[in-house]
Amino acid sequence: MKTEYDTIVIGGGMAGIAAAHELARRGQDVLVLEQFGFGHDRGSSAGPSRIFRLSQPLRDYAQMARRALDLWRTFQTEYATPLYRPTGLLDLGSADNAALTDIQTNLRESGQDFEVLDAASLARRYPQWRPGDDWQVIYSPEAGILNPSLALELLTAMSGVLGATLLDRTPVLDLDLRDPQAPRVRTGRGVFTAQRLIVAAGAWLPALAPLLAGRLRVTQEQVVFFRPRQPEAFVPERFPLFIQWQTPEVYGFPMFHLPGVKLGLHLSGPQVSPDTRDGLPRPKLTEVMRAFLEAHLPGAAGPVMQAKTCLYTTTRSGDFVYDTHPESENVLIVSACSGTGFKFMPVHGEIIAEWVAGRRHPLCTGRFGLERAAPPFAAPG
Ligand SMILES: Cc1cc2nc3c(=O)[nH]c(=O)nc-3n(C[C@H](O)[C@H](O)[C@H](O)COP(=O)(O)OP(=O)(O)OC[C@H]3O[C@@H](n4cnc5c(N)ncnc54)[C@H](O)[C@@H]3O)c2cc1C
Repeated sequence: MKTEYDTIVIGGGMAGIAAAHELARRGQDVLVLEQFGFGHDRGSSAGPSRIFRLSQPLRDYAQMARRALDLWRTFQTEYATPLYRPTGLLDLGSADNAALTDIQTNLRESGQDFEVLDAASLARRYPQWRPGDDWQVIYSPEAGILNPSLALELLTAMSGVLGATLLDRTPVLDLDLRDPQAPRVRTGRGVFTAQRLIVAAGAWLPALAPLLAGRLRVTQEQVVFFRPRQPEAFVPERFPLFIQWQTPEVYGFPMFHLPGVKLGLHLSGPQVSPDTRDGLPRPKLTEVMRAFLEAHLPGAAGPVMQAKTCLYTTTRSGDFVYDTHPESENVLIVSACSGTGFKFMPVHGEIIAEWVAGRRHPLCTGRFGLERAAPPFAAPG
């Protein structure tokens, strides 16, 4: 078996595959090593739907989102595969909510369409909603649903077509950085070496790069499909995506994939280890979601159809990490989750490919350096 490549990517989740696809497209000889089967559901990238939105409170992410939308549309057209379904999105919160103010500023500065609604006009336009009296709402039409499993399957397959070597069921056991110019990885199938190494191992990053221990928090998050009492009111044409910027942040989808309204509570699941987690949805979290529906979307508060769990890997700042390994400038550490990473994946691919080419992508700002983005979490007291 061939053992030398231009670039090795560890991790066949969406971040690793987006990178492999972009690198292969640019003519690089790429090897992807994935510990499980491609498309598995034990990490962060599986499932039927992810929110895409331009409405971002932070300007760096607003800029990334605009670039990502262009790239998702390019994939969709070039590969004639339905990855993105526009639905619009409602950002909801009390009128003094700082995130809503920042979202408006960023949308306005970048010339994006949006509307601001008060509680009464929300209820008139979308009678499914029973808003709080003090709610303010931003409606942005340029938002929609990405299909993560399909996107991952597509870009994995296309990476292969473009010449990447894809090895699944090949866990990387450790990195050998004794020669920083030629990083090596040890697997059960042998040792592989490359000029550049990308470590995009999601929740398993600290196992490969112990310097990340204590800097990434892995939680088991859950999403729940509720069968609406009035299904016709919750089809994508009538019911946009939403995010309620309260604590915990509640987000929801119209009926898509399954004929149910999908709800999630951002960053509210238990801290886990990726190898020993139980995978079981927590009934208490489902009840919090149901209470939200009963209060604000009563027509959607029907029986639970399905509840599933998935992993978040979060930094203390909530930012992604792209930084070189302290022991080798030819190794890039990538953490692209914090529960919001999917929408940006084509940009992650570009950022990584630019790094491989020895350049810094203009959207890869100092925000994503390891020390800034991922200082250690405080030890439990
Ligand atoms: C419930 C939930 C809802 C979300 N909702 C949204 C949303 O609405 N919008 C949005 O933009 N984002 C969302 N996200 C975030 C998004 O899904 C993640 O940002 C993204 O999937 C992270 O991809 P990844 O490749 O970094 O991680 P993963 O998909 O976990 O990939 C890491 C891969 O590395 C492999 N690996 C690890 N160690 C090794 C090793 N030693 N050897 C070989 N392979 C290894 C793993 O098996 C895995 O396949 C959500 C995430 C979750 C969990």
